[in-house]
Amino acid sequence: MDFELSEEMKMIQQTARKFAIAEIAPLSRECDEKEKYTPEIRKKAGEVGLVGAWIPEQYGGAGVGILGHSLITEEVSKVDMGIGLNIIAASFGCEAILQFGSEEQKKTYLPLVCTGEKVFAGAFTEPDAGTDASAYKTRATKDGNDYLIQGNKMFITNGTVCDFFVTQCITNPTEKKHNSFSLIIVPAQTPGITRNKIHGKMGIRASDTAEVAFENVRVPQTNLIGKEGKGFGQLMNFFDTTRVMVSAQGLGLSEACLETSIKYAKERNVFGSPLISFQLTQKKLTEMAIMIEALRGLVYKAAWLIDAGRPDYQLAAMAKYYSGQTAVFCANAAVEIHGGYGYIEEYPVEKWYRDAKILEIYEGTKEAEILTIGKNLSK
Ligand SMILES: Cc1cc2nc3c(=O)[nH]c(=O)nc-3n(C[C@H](O)[C@H](O)[C@H](O)COP(=O)(O)OP(=O)(O)OC[C@H]3O[C@@H](n4cnc5c(N)ncnc54)[C@H](O)[C@@H]3O)c2cc1C
Repeated sequence: MDFELSEEMKMIQQTARKFAIAEIAPLSRECDEKEKYTPEIRKKAGEVGLVGAWIPEQYGGAGVGILGHSLITEEVSKVDMGIGLNIIAASFGCEAILQFGSEEQKKTYLPLVCTGEKVFAGAFTEPDAGTDASAYKTRATKDGNDYLIQGNKMFITNGTVCDFFVTQCITNPTEKKHNSFSLIIVPAQTPGITRNKIHGKMGIRASDTAEVAFENVRVPQTNLIGKEGKGFGQLMNFFDTTRVMVSAQGLGLSEACLETSIKYAKERNVFGSPLISFQLTQKKLTEMAIMIEALRGLVYKAAWLIDAGRPDYQLAAMAKYYSGQTAVFCANAAVEIHGGYGYIEEYPVEKWYRDAKILEIYEGTKEAEILTIGKNLSK
């Protein structure tokens, strides 16, 4: 058993770290305050191979797999989870194309995202259905050689800035629920699409989140990913990968909380001694450190298994669940260690506290992960 990262993985980690410190850090506070999406950062990241890096080289990516992508995610999230999301989620949806798409779809779409020029969005959640993915109502009806798509999607990352959606629609309404769905690629400029940015998010405010309405949106049937009626299963497989990627966000944010808290606790004096000399403070730091190491183990192993061709949905759900737990715990502890200064914008921990919460909500809520893990254990 070898826990050492390969030289290639260390290199991608180093590149992402340098990029995040040089390019993302200076924009962090402004983008959070102004809810500013940064296409220029995404393009710069594309130039150094950080966008869609998990995509195999033959389709334009860096070919560093899900482990490499997780390392990138960890590093950018350590600096800013919102801006980081703009980089790592530019390829969100392409996982389904790589896994289930035709060779032509792979060659057409995947190279476009890796340069940072084009952006994808995975549009699944609907206003009335999130956790229950079998309750989506968006319909794609056949019309000649096309589909006509009708429905509404909610909370879509990259919704107003993307060039393509990968979306889940009912194509076979007479089939049983789980056999009625299909994943379809929809160019975002197609007539009939309305996109409205959602303002006022608690955290990751530099990321773009939108409501998307499809009204008689016409796309060719060749935009279907894989086979009709297989969309539900495809989406579940898709989440087994993307949940691991998202878990790495929590790892990066938690590491930032720990490092910043140690530094602050060494500098801050209380009762005539540095804060870090008190055992109550050390307990908080210790718990953070233990959770981070455990989370790292879950994320790296789950990613490594995907790259080895043996994805483990149970481990992916555990990583995602524990990522939210760890990030929320670490951000809370970091605010507490900073005292009153933790509550004001002058220090980054108040932002991390706000950012962390999304990790218990998107890509499967913490409750959804518990249900998945519990169901599997009780089989
Ligand atoms: C910033 C942001 C970005 C997002 N990006 C995307 C994106 O790019 N693409 C996309 O498709 N979606 C995206 N989402 C949507 C996100 O994945 C959903 O919000 C999430 O899955 C929960 O769905 P919901 O909001 O409909 O909550 P609901 O499903 O209505 O759940 C409400 C609450 O009930 C709980 N619950 C549900 N079922 C059970 C049960 N059986 N037992 C007990 N409790 C239960 C849930 O855990 C939750 O706490 C994003 C959301 C946000 C906020």
